[in-house]
Amino acid sequence: MPQTTSLLDNAEIATALRAAASLMRRSYHAVALVGAGLSAESGIPTYRGTGGIWTKFGEPTIDGWDFFQDDPAGWWRYAIEHKVGGSDFTDAIDRAAPNAGHYALADLEHMGRLAHVITQNIDNLHQVAGSRLVTEIHGNRFKVRCMECGARDRLETIDLERLPPHCPECGGVYKNDTVMFGEPIPKDALDECYRQALQADLFLTVGTSAVVYPAADFPVLAKRRGAPLIEINPEETGLTDIADVVIRAPAGIALPALVDLLLVP
Ligand SMILES: [Zn+2]
Repeated sequence: MPQTTSLLDNAEIATALRAAASLMRRSYHAVALVGAGLSAESGIPTYRGTGGIWTKFGEPTIDGWDFFQDDPAGWWRYAIEHKVGGSDFTDAIDRAAPNAGHYALADLEHMGRLAHVITQNIDNLHQVAGSRLVTEIHGNRFKVRCMECGARDRLETIDLERLPPHCPECGGVYKNDTVMFGEPIPKDALDECYRQALQADLFLTVGTSAVVYPAADFPVLAKRRGAPLIEINPEETGLTDIADVVIRAPAGIALPALVDLLLVP
């Protein structure tokens, strides 16, 4: 890949990568916040920005959450009939495979260099790549979540004969796990994110501008408590000014390069 070579030949990026590797060597609890930029490298369209699905098709209607709350059975019927999310976006997710950035994050976890991934993506690609310590703020498209006890299950394993489907543990109503507009972030996921941000002694942002609440809170919170901040993003973001190290490159190139640097004793 000629792009890889030219980017790593770039002195500024090479220096930033070495600085990031050095911070990672010294850290005990590094946490990464991952956004749509990483999945975009796997061909999944981002929401905002050039080519983003909201830019193309307009922002989704806000009433999905109200619809679900008013009539869960009706929502499920509608979802099944209309293949909710049956769109360019979900078709792209169905086709997508992890890229080198996802695999590098999994490598960092297995090397003991990365304690946790907080992801804003719903595409399950971290898990496919082998990451285990992952919190999905916006849920997972292949799962359902119990509205009472918060238990998750695989969408493909639940019985859709009687709607709405119910949680076998507590009898609560199942909803798709993907967080809808207007729906609160599930408490267990949000609590885990804050726990990670407070524990982090190093914080990485990967392919995210982190401008949307609550994700925007995590790097700022960690930074305020003294954790250095590494930004990996081909574009400048609102966090660039407070970042200690900025790697101006796609995650699929920067993260494997970081793994290589860390493999050298
Ligand atoms: Zn339940």
